[in-house]
Amino acid sequence: MDLELVSEILRLKEEKDAVILAHSYQPPDIQDIADHVGDSLQLSRTAASTGSSVIVFCGVRFMAETAHILSPEKTVLLPEPDAGCPLADCIEVPALLSMQEVYPDALTVLYVNSPADVKAASYACCTSANALEVVKSVPSDEVIFAPDRNLGTFVSERSDKKIHIWNGACRCHATADIQNIRSAMEEWPDAELLVHPETSPEVWDLANSVLGTGGMIRHVDQSDSRRFIIGTEEGMVYRLSTLFPDREFRAGGKIYCSDMKKIDLQKIIVSLRELEPAIRLDPDIREKAYTAVARMTEITG
Ligand code: SF4
Repeated sequence: MDLELVSEILRLKEEKDAVILAHSYQPPDIQDIADHVGDSLQLSRTAASTGSSVIVFCGVRFMAETAHILSPEKTVLLPEPDAGCPLADCIEVPALLSMQEVYPDALTVLYVNSPADVKAASYACCTSANALEVVKSVPSDEVIFAPDRNLGTFVSERSDKKIHIWNGACRCHATADIQNIRSAMEEWPDAELLVHPETSPEVWDLANSVLGTGGMIRHVDQSDSRRFIIGTEEGMVYRLSTLFPDREFRAGGKIYCSDMKKIDLQKIIVSLRELEPAIRLDPDIREKAYTAVARMTEITG
């Protein structure tokens, strides 16, 4: 790690009253300099509770937007404006409104991996960890679930509600290399395989547990196993290795998100110096999106 860059970041953080948040899929050097590392919702809640007036969000756009939705009075910086999410980009408001017209009795539950204006057009948001709980709790027997079809299928198989699933996917998780996972299982036969619900049902069938990133951390903490194969974005292997140095982890499935690797230390410095690029949302969209996010937090606590 470049210590000069790190020292400049620390100085600027102090000068600008900033806190640095990093998603678990970020590269090791970004995770190492962050004040908090976690999943997108956990980080947004941290953003809302921090006393700092500036938040540097090291992740992708929808995450920084969610932090802004929850903390509109703070400056939320996304050091690389092109850090997007192909899953979030696969849904747009007009198409969702058309689907809502086709299923007028269904309430829309939207995975947080989605743009702010689509959140504003939805009833409630959810994460991979609480999707089933949110779907079960919304006051309708019919639900539109968007935009991830694998997470939607995961929920649909575990709920009695009629679920209409949007046909989107995280291209990194949905194309996980099953042969690579099988090879890892052969080489580490004693390991538990933990996979993310954005992977395909064929991958779930191989796994010991299907969990979001926060769930993986809790699972490892409570497990007696010493070795784990991790079927989610490879940055999570570094995160788990840092938290549990007495266990062994390896990636399974060659899951790599290039958008999650677009931020580097130099970009954080420029962003802190200029306080740009900052997330700005139309206030009406922000308020409506806040309602959808707040419904999730009311349901899941
Ligand atoms: Fe989006 Fe998938 Fe990358 Fe997450 S891993 S940011 S869902 S493309």
